[in-house]
Amino acid sequence: MGYEHIIDKDTCKGCGLCVAVCPKKVLEISEEVNTMGYFPAHQARSEDCVFCTTCCIMCPDVAITINKTVEDATEPELQ
Ligand code: SF4
Ligand code: SF4
Repeated sequence: MGYEHIIDKDTCKGCGLCVAVCPKKVLEISEEVNTMGYFPAHQARSEDCVFCTTCCIMCPDVAITINKTVEDATEPELQ
C-alpha cells in the first residue's frame, strides 16, 4: 500500500505549525507566495516522510491530506 502526501498550497496560510511538528523534518516554508499572499509549506524532503499524519492533524486550515495510492497487487480478485 502506498501513500500520497498532499499540501493544498492555496489553502495553506504559512503558519509553520506543520513544519514544527514533523518528526522527520520533511516540511519547509516555501519562498514562493500563493494566491492568498502567504508563503505555503511544501515537502522539502518528501522521501523522508513516514506518513505519520501528525502534520494533517495539526494543520488549522486542513490543508494537508494523506491518501492511499496503491492497492495490494497480490490481493485475489473477487469471483
Ligand atoms: S506525515 Fe508525518 S513525516 Fe510526513 S510530513 Fe507529515 S508530520 Fe512529517
Ligand atoms: S499547518 Fe497548515 S496552514 Fe500551517 S503551514 Fe502547515 S499546511 Fe500551511
